[in-house]
Amino acid sequence: MADPSPQARAAELRRLLQRAAHAYYVLDAPELEDAVYDRLYRELLAIEAAHPELVRPDSPTQRVGGEPAEGFATVEHRIGLLSLDNAFDAAEFAAWHQRLLKVLVKTAAAGADPVAGQEPEAAPGGEADVGRDAAAEASAQTEDLALVCELKIDGNALALSYERGVLVRAATRGDGRSGEEITANVRTIQSVPLRLRLEDPPEWLEVRGEAFIPEATFAAINAERLGRGEPAFANPRNACAGTLRQLDPKVVAARHLDFLAYTLHLPEAGPRSQWEALAWLRTAGFRVNPDCARCPDLAAAQAFFTAWEQKRHGLPYATDGVVVKLDDLALQEQAGFTQKAPRWAIALKYAAEEAPTRLLRLGVQVGRTGAVTPVAEFEAVPLAGTSVSRATLHNADRLTELDLHAGDTIVVGKAGEIIPEVVRVLSELRPAGAERLGLPHTCPECSSELVREEGEAATRCVNSSCPAILRGSLRHWVSKGALDVDGLGSKLIEQLVDRGLVRSIADLHRLDASLLASLERMGEKSAANLVGALQNSRPRPWHRVLYGLGIHHVGAVNARALARAFPSAAELAEAARDDPETVTAVFGIGEEIAQSLAQWFATPANQALLADLTALGLTLQASAAERQEAAAVNAGAGRVDGAGQDQPLAGKTLVLTGTLPSLSRSEAQDRIEAAGGKVTASVSRRTSYVVAGAEAGSKLAKAEGLGVPVLDEAALLELLAP
Ligand code: NAD
Repeated sequence: MADPSPQARAAELRRLLQRAAHAYYVLDAPELEDAVYDRLYRELLAIEAAHPELVRPDSPTQRVGGEPAEGFATVEHRIGLLSLDNAFDAAEFAAWHQRLLKVLVKTAAAGADPVAGQEPEAAPGGEADVGRDAAAEASAQTEDLALVCELKIDGNALALSYERGVLVRAATRGDGRSGEEITANVRTIQSVPLRLRLEDPPEWLEVRGEAFIPEATFAAINAERLGRGEPAFANPRNACAGTLRQLDPKVVAARHLDFLAYTLHLPEAGPRSQWEALAWLRTAGFRVNPDCARCPDLAAAQAFFTAWEQKRHGLPYATDGVVVKLDDLALQEQAGFTQKAPRWAIALKYAAEEAPTRLLRLGVQVGRTGAVTPVAEFEAVPLAGTSVSRATLHNADRLTELDLHAGDTIVVGKAGEIIPEVVRVLSELRPAGAERLGLPHTCPECSSELVREEGEAATRCVNSSCPAILRGSLRHWVSKGALDVDGLGSKLIEQLVDRGLVRSIADLHRLDASLLASLERMGEKSAANLVGALQNSRPRPWHRVLYGLGIHHVGAVNARALARAFPSAAELAEAARDDPETVTAVFGIGEEIAQSLAQWFATPANQALLADLTALGLTLQASAAERQEAAAVNAGAGRVDGAGQDQPLAGKTLVLTGTLPSLSRSEAQDRIEAAGGKVTASVSRRTSYVVAGAEAGSKLAKAEGLGVPVLDEAALLELLAP
C-alpha cells in the first residue's frame, strides 16, 4: 500500500489534532493521550517544515492553546503568554541548546554584546570584522550558560496582574494573546497573594505561574463526580482547567486549587536572572517550587531531569517534565521568541508510556504449541525508555477488535511497563481504501491449513513436523525450568532445524562436537561445551523432563504435581490412558489437562520420542529420593503447594452423588473447596470420600467396590467443622 501524500496526511493530522485540541482545551475532556497528541503534532510540524506550502492558518501548529470558553469576559494579556517547545530525549535537548547558542551568537554579532549588555567594540577591520569578533566572543562566553531547571507542573498557566501590590486581575492563557478573565475564581486560591508583601510595590507587575490540583484532591473530586453520576476528569490538568472555568467561585474554593509562581514581569529594571526572579517572587509572598535548580551547564540540567524522572512519583502533584530556562534575562530577551514559544526555554518531557506510530506489516509467529500469534511490526518509537518496533496482537479476536488495516496509525503502549502492546488504532488517520488485515489461512512456516477449534482463542498449525513448532519445542526443552542447557540459543536452534540436523528433541542429545563446530559462529570450544552441557542435562529430575516435553496445559507447577503422583513416564502414560480419574485426583489437575495428557501419550510420534529419550539415558522417572519425598507428600495431604495444610479437607478429594438433604450440589462443592478439598466427577482408588445423598447411583456402587469411605451430609458437615 502506497503511503498517503504529504498533503493528505497533513490534512488528516490537522483534522484529528483540531478535534483533540477542542476536546482538551475547551471541553476539558481529552480524547487522546498527551504523548500521542505530542507525537502527531510533531509529525504535522515536520510535514509543514518540509512543505511550507501546506501550512494553513488554522493549523494547530499556528496557535497557542484553544479558544476562550464562553461565559467569561476576555482580557488582552499585557505581555503574550506563549507555549513551550518540547524535547523528548537528550539529543533533542542538546539540539535545542545548540540552536540557542547559535541564535545568541547571531544576535550578538548583529548588535548588542549578549553578556555584558555593552555596545560591541569598534574593530579596525570594518563592519564584517566587528561581526566576526563579537560572534567569537559570544560563542566563547555562551558555551556554559547557566540554566534554571523547574519542574513542569501539569496544571494551567495563569497571568496575574497586580497594581500597587494588589491583585486586580487574573486570566487564563487562552490563545496566548487574550484569555478568560477569572479573577473571582483565582481569589479563592490561598497561595495567590491578594496583596504583595512589598514595602514599595511597583505601579504594576505581572506574575505567571501554574494553578494545579494536587493528586489527592484530584482523586477526591473524581470520586465525588462519579458519585453524582458525572464523568470523571481525565487528569489533574483538565480537572484544574474545568475548575478555573466554574461560574460559581464557591465551587472553585471547595476544590482547593494551588498555585506556584515562576515568571515575573516588572515595568522597570528588577532581577537580572530567572534565579533572582524566583527569589524575588518568594519575597513578595508567592509560593515558588523549592524543587528547582540553577545549573552551570547542559550536563547538569540533564542530570536534574534524570533524577526527577524517578523522584517525581513521590510528589503530591503531577509533573510531565522539566522546564529548562536560560538564566540570564538579558540573554533571554536577546534570544527572543518563535511564533509560539520562547527560544530561551524548553520543556524536557518524561518518557512517554504511549505513542502513535505507523504499522508497517502484520507478521505472524508460530509457537511451540502451534498457536499462531499475529505480531504488529511498526516504525520504531521510543516508549518508556526503549525503542519499540514490534508488539504482539495475541490472537485473531484481538485483531478483529482492533479492526487493523494496512498502513494504519496505531497507538502502542507497554503493558506493565514491559511488554509492548497495540492499545488502539487511530482510524481517523487511515489511508483511503486501506485493506483490512486478518490472520492468514495457511501456516507461514509449512503452508498447512490453520485450524481454530471451537471455543479456543488460538488459531493453530496442527502439522507436528512444522519447523516453527519444532524450533519452539527445542527452545522450551533447553530452557531454565526444563533441561536448562546453556549455549543453545535461538540462532543455533534455527540453524540446526533449517539444515535438518535436528528433527526432534532426542536428536539434540545425539549431536556431536565436530558437527556442531562446523556450524556458523561455533568454535570447537563452544561446540565441546554444548555437548558437555547436553550430557550433564541427562540426569535432570523427572518433573523437569515432564515439563520440558511441552505437553499442552502442563506447566512447571502441574508437572511437579503429576511427577509426584506418577513417578515415571510409564506410570503417567498408563494412568492417562486407563484411569483418567487417578490423574484428575491430583491437586490442580482437571479434566482438560487429563485429556491433553491422554492425547499426548497416545500419539505414536510421542511414544517413539519417549523410547528415544530413554535409550539416550534421560531420566523419565523419579529417583529413589524423589520417590520417598513424593510418598511423604502424598501421604500427608497430596497437595503440591503445601498451602492450606491445616484446613480440615486439605489434600482430600471428594465425589458428590445423589441429592443431599439440605445442601445443594454447588453449596456442598463451595464448602468442600473452602475447607481445602477438591471435588471431582468420578470415583477412583484415590478418592478420599464419596458423599452420597438420596437416589445415589453408580458412583456409590463404585465407591463401595473400591472400598472408598462413604459419608452422608451430616458426616460431611462434621468433617467441615470438626
Ligand atoms: P505545554 O503544556 O507542553 O507547555 C507550556 C505550559 O507549561 C505553560 O503554559 C505552563 O502552563 C506550563 N508550565 C508548567 N510549569 C512551568 C514552568 N516552570 N515554567 C513555564 N511553564 C510551565 O504546552 P501547551 O501549549 O500548554 O499545551 C500543549 C500540551 O497540551 C501538549 O503537551 C499536549 O500534550 C497537550 N494537549 C493535549 C491534547 C490531547 O488531546 N491530549 C490536546 C491539545 C494539547
